[in-house]
Amino acid sequence: MRILIVEDEKKVAGFIKKGLEEETYAVDVAYDGEDGLHMGVENQYDLIILDLMLPIIDGLNVLSRLRGKKVETPILLLTAKDSVEDKVTGLNSGADDYLTKPFAFSELLARIRVLLRRGKTETKTVLQIDGLSLDLVSHKVKRHDEEIELTGKEYSLLEYFMRNQGKVLTRTMIAEHVWDYNFDTFTNVIDVYVNHLRKKIDKGYPEKLLHTLRGVGYIMKE
Ligand code: CA
Repeated sequence: MRILIVEDEKKVAGFIKKGLEEETYAVDVAYDGEDGLHMGVENQYDLIILDLMLPIIDGLNVLSRLRGKKVETPILLLTAKDSVEDKVTGLNSGADDYLTKPFAFSELLARIRVLLRRGKTETKTVLQIDGLSLDLVSHKVKRHDEEIELTGKEYSLLEYFMRNQGKVLTRTMIAEHVWDYNFDTFTNVIDVYVNHLRKKIDKGYPEKLLHTLRGVGYIMKE
């Protein structure tokens, strides 16, 4: 899952980015509203964390312009002051949730998890496919009760596959949702990671879950 943070306070942005990366999210940061708007339109983010007080274009303006350009990514607003008016305006302009600064990082994480399953009827925190399970809270991955050790990136890749079971995922889609802005799409890094992941989840099991579609990409299905 790839997240954009639009926040001009470098310390706050850095703190959120570091924390989210530790949770295996791919994270980009924009330090003003103009960059934030541009990046939000150009890239396929799974979530945008948007501060309200921003230089060049303020947060509410970025929000309504993103929605005006049909960007439907869930947006979580950060407000410095506990102003009811700002929150109401934000929610009316198409934000999905808000958090007042300062906040506990655990609360931010909990809200992100809720927003990332928006639109889906499932409310469980464990993703499953044929005996393979991924716990979004504890980050434990198991196949038939056998725990599988994954690196942060492998976990993130598996989460993306499990959230999109039965869908063909191209390398571009994988790059956009699992890696951040600095990723060089001309390398074979994705194939290398998918092969590592496949060895860990499929090797030794008769039923394979991760399939290659030659010239197209990958698909996870039973
Ligand atoms: Ca700010």
